[in-house]
Amino acid sequence: MQSSNETKDLCDFCSGELHPGITELEFHVESQWVICENLPAQICGQCGEAYFSAQVSHQIDEILARRKQLQPLRYETVPVFSPELIAA
Ligand SMILES: [Zn+2]
Repeated sequence: MQSSNETKDLCDFCSGELHPGITELEFHVESQWVICENLPAQICGQCGEAYFSAQVSHQIDEILARRKQLQPLRYETVPVFSPELIAA
């Protein structure tokens, strides 16, 4: 693993510049979609890839591990599609 340094971090995928921002992640666990939002990250200005600190990564792991005990912020419905919907 690389240690942090003073130079600007670049995206591993496209070498775009990373900027601090807030993002969300979606996970599919045990046949259920779980969304984590308000995640601070370094976000690539070119491709949108998000990079998380060790602390935020740990928080995400803990949310997923404790998701059945935690009260979610809210529930959202998720649209589901299939190729037959666009069959001519
Ligand atoms: Zn990128």
